[in-house]
Amino acid sequence: MTRKQPSFATETVWAGEEKYRVHGASQVPVVHSVAYTYDDLDYWYEVAVGNAEGHIYGRNTNPTVASFEDKVKQLEGAESATSFSTGMAAISNTLLTFLTPRDRIVSIKDTYGGTNKIFSEFLPRLDIDITLCETGNHDEMIEEINKGCQVVYLETPTNPTVKITDIEKIAEAAKEAGALVVVDNTFATPVLQNPLQLGADLVIHSATKFLGGHADALGGVLCGDEVLVDRVYHYREINGATMDPMAAYLLIRGMKTLHLRVWKQTENAGKLAEYLKAHPLVESVYYPGLTDHANHDIAKQQMRGFGGMFSFSLHGGMDAVKEMLPKLKFANRAANLGAVETTVGPARTTSHVESSPEERKALGIPDGLIRYSAGIEDFEDLKADLEEAMKAITVTQ
Ligand SMILES: *Cc1c(COP(=O)(O)O)cnc(C)c1O
Repeated sequence: MTRKQPSFATETVWAGEEKYRVHGASQVPVVHSVAYTYDDLDYWYEVAVGNAEGHIYGRNTNPTVASFEDKVKQLEGAESATSFSTGMAAISNTLLTFLTPRDRIVSIKDTYGGTNKIFSEFLPRLDIDITLCETGNHDEMIEEINKGCQVVYLETPTNPTVKITDIEKIAEAAKEAGALVVVDNTFATPVLQNPLQLGADLVIHSATKFLGGHADALGGVLCGDEVLVDRVYHYREINGATMDPMAAYLLIRGMKTLHLRVWKQTENAGKLAEYLKAHPLVESVYYPGLTDHANHDIAKQQMRGFGGMFSFSLHGGMDAVKEMLPKLKFANRAANLGAVETTVGPARTTSHVESSPEERKALGIPDGLIRYSAGIEDFEDLKADLEEAMKAITVTQ
């Protein structure tokens, strides 16, 4: 009798580790070694040129980092994965691998602030043409893709207004145009969405966020077809944005609970979004799980759950935010997200700190928008905390 493929929850705990647990260790050891020694010079050469398995130098590969990559690869159902020092390194290295002068990239206006800076500041210097479409306007995006491009770059749900793009639909148009489809899957995580199965060529994560889940390690990862991933790996091994083995260890440990955390965070976010929506001091709530969300139906179709992230604004604007946010007891007021602790912050100092007030306005991000990353705490405690903090608000319009 053949055993069935293990389920996702089991994979988060076990995948990618066995090969790396040397000396009978039950956990993947952290290999703090810059280089690897070889007495057999011919064998060393074979490893160096990639004909035999092994490690040569830490900027290229490391066993702990390789185990991290194997785990994510299996969770995303990918052929291959490579890692980076941060999520931004994964994004920039990927774009710089595939784009050359006079190429064109089509993306959305609502990408992560750092990604948006790459589009607005760094790629134009290389004479790369960038077209940013209204997020969620599929007709506009398909029209732009049909004009010809090399890369289509998506992020769904987006940061911080959680807008949704239909990956399958856009990937279809991109295929016809011969363009690569890259998806930042940081917000959804492989628990809730697998872009590769929806037609994307490459998927990126800021592992700093949900994958690690404990806000104690930075990292980025890219998954997809082996030939494509190898090209980005080569760019990274030379340019040097390598993941640290200690970070890899922390991220592996974090991922063991990915399944549990993300479902709990999704449950908390969904209930809190509903609660806030009914609150008289709240102006609007952005969450793909709300039926009045512009692309709720698409989210429902391509995601298994709506995720742990939402944002909301208050009638009293930024002044009210300043009164309310410091009163929260069970929330870090911080720039990260996806941690076990609830994390909050105004978009202007978190996701879009890199953008100017004018740029944020153009993106439809109100100054008083609060990004809320639900943690794994008890829902009733989080709700009571919000309710209590709202009482501090004196500015109501
Ligand atoms: C945080 C984040 C990034 C950047 O990741 P770092 O690890 O901070 O470099 C990219 N995309 C999204 C959606 C993010 O939230």
